[in-house]
Amino acid sequence: MAYLHDFIYNENSNCRRSSEAVVKAVASAVANQFGTDLAVKILPTVTAAVVGVLDNGDYSASVPFLKEGREIVRAGRILGALGYMAGASGNISVRLDDGTVLITPSGMRKIDLHPDDMVRVDLAGNVLSEGPYKVSSEYMIHLQAYRSRNDVRAVVHTHAPYATTFAAAHMPLDNTVLAEAWNMLGGTIPVVPFGAPSTPELASNLIPFLKDHSCFLLENHGLMTIAKDLETAVQMTETAEFLAKIQINARALGGEKPLRGDSIRILREVQAKRCQK
Ligand SMILES: [Zn+2]
Repeated sequence: MAYLHDFIYNENSNCRRSSEAVVKAVASAVANQFGTDLAVKILPTVTAAVVGVLDNGDYSASVPFLKEGREIVRAGRILGALGYMAGASGNISVRLDDGTVLITPSGMRKIDLHPDDMVRVDLAGNVLSEGPYKVSSEYMIHLQAYRSRNDVRAVVHTHAPYATTFAAAHMPLDNTVLAEAWNMLGGTIPVVPFGAPSTPELASNLIPFLKDHSCFLLENHGLMTIAKDLETAVQMTETAEFLAKIQINARALGGEKPLRGDSIRILREVQAKRCQK
């Protein structure tokens, strides 16, 4: 039976196959070697071992932008497990040190991603990587955020269900309701007017909101956060979804009560002191 190396690299080339292609090739070889019945029994173990090697073994050294790819994988697993990315929806990106962008591929469940599955694009949307996958269809809203704001290093777009409920109702999120949400998300989370997903119209509708906001509801669509790093963008996504859920629950009890004026002043002072440290 061939060595794992032979499955990972294309013949006569140093190009790595995608993780999915490697797993398929190993599965096929196991079935040929041991027969279908035994293959069905041992394939889950073999697949887990192969994925482990691809993620953590020496082979990973050949994956370009491995560190950033791993960050995206981790974010995708967190947000996918939370149910914010139904089917293959949603997309995640980071800005690399050279100014280009690493983004999730189109059509894949975020929970299944591997670091070498990502697609690298420049700020004009030209694909620079040579992998087998297509760039996320929503790449334009990501690139618009990076072009408009130099401080943005990560973008997360999800279909988190409670936040998307507000987007479907064309209702901004009034985040003066929870102190933690106010601290993390700033002012009101606005609703960006509808543009069909994957169109330049959606990206251009976003432009007027980018200057003053880092968290947005996309009308009749979903949620988007932008931040200085990916972990922050993920936490902002979770916080916005929590805020939306609490507001919907509070309305069942007669309606949420906003933080009082004096509380906002105190929160501002606490935040200012934190920034000075
Ligand atoms: Zn979407």
